[in-house]
Amino acid sequence: MIGILGGTFDPPHYGHLRPARELVSALGLTELRFIPAANPPHRPPPVAAGADRLKMLQLAIAREPGFVADDRELRRGGPSYTILTLTELRAELAGRSLCLIMGMDAFLGLDRWHRWQELWDYAHIVAMPRPGWPVEQGLPAWARPRLCRDARELAQHPTGRLWIQPVTPQDISATRIRADLARGASVADWVPPAVLQYIKDNRIYH
Ligand code: ATP
Repeated sequence: MIGILGGTFDPPHYGHLRPARELVSALGLTELRFIPAANPPHRPPPVAAGADRLKMLQLAIAREPGFVADDRELRRGGPSYTILTLTELRAELAGRSLCLIMGMDAFLGLDRWHRWQELWDYAHIVAMPRPGWPVEQGLPAWARPRLCRDARELAQHPTGRLWIQPVTPQDISATRIRADLARGASVADWVPPAVLQYIKDNRIYH
């Protein structure tokens, strides 16, 4: 199975990297592709330029085996619809099972994504709990029939199942990191050193 983690990565932080590491080992993913969005359709445009977000991502994952930065959405331009990305990946990776990974905040808004019901025809979805977005409040009705009881069910179906992977909570967001950088506070606990150096050298978010 190949994991796909889309996002703005504005900047990438340990809230992306640590849960991603845990997911790779829990699900036995052979590869995890980080795909920065060019123009995310459901949120304000990113602050940093696409080229800087890609570079920061490359620095963040440089020492992580199995992590790959995939720049297709930046190259494609236009609204970064996940359904288009999955269609491309499906064609390139015939025979591989795809897991679309997202935090619980993103997952709970999935039914507002472009052609969201078709996403299930291309991939499984793996949601990660995120502080502030408790799963205990219950999954939406549209999600419940797809929920696996055991992660092994993902391997038994080609697409269309939902798994909620417990991960060590990381109370980190890029919004908070940008705000702290803008007021000169330290973000060293949340961002890999090479990314922080890049931010400083290029005066991003200041
Ligand atoms: P922002 O604060 O700018 O909205 P973000 O911190 O949510 O950014 P994104 O790049 O938008 O970061 O997130 C990409 C994906 O990673 C999303 O699916 C998001 O839910 C997930 N994610 C981000 N931070 C965490 C975290 N701390 N724990 C679990 N999932 C996370």
